[in-house]
Amino acid sequence: MRTIVTYPDPVLRRKAEPVSDINEEILELIEDMTDAMYGDDGVGLAAPQVGESKRLIVVDAGEGLTVLINPEIIQKSGEEASLEEGCLSLPDIRVDVSRPSSVVVHGLNEKGKKIELEAEGLLARVFQHEIDHLNGVLIIDHASSVQRSLLKSRLRGLGKAAS
Ligand code: ZN
Repeated sequence: MRTIVTYPDPVLRRKAEPVSDINEEILELIEDMTDAMYGDDGVGLAAPQVGESKRLIVVDAGEGLTVLINPEIIQKSGEEASLEEGCLSLPDIRVDVSRPSSVVVHGLNEKGKKIELEAEGLLARVFQHEIDHLNGVLIIDHASSVQRSLLKSRLRGLGKAAS
């Protein structure tokens, strides 16, 4: 089983590369990511979180597993809602993140089939969180300046633990 990469590992800040070929290696990666997500009681995981800078996410917010390769948010709508989020790559850190309440996401599934999904509420939030990871964006980037200064010492702590 793969271990989850934690902040401040530089792979979390890199813009991930599109997946050009859904080969054996990618299918294995999907399996490993799914195991890691369920193993850590997560609701979603992005490939950079297992150290692979690839545009690939797995999501299960209680409605079953969705695998999305090269996912893109093509539409955001609904009111912005704020909710506290955590991240497997930022242990013990919680940040209030404001996001649109509905999104339309498209990408490929593990069979290479084009899929388009409409998501609301928690599922919409998880998609946005995971796709953020593919662009090197973390929940701490969504924090207000007040919250960010409160988080500073904790983030330093994570940096030390990792080195
Ligand atoms: Zn995360």
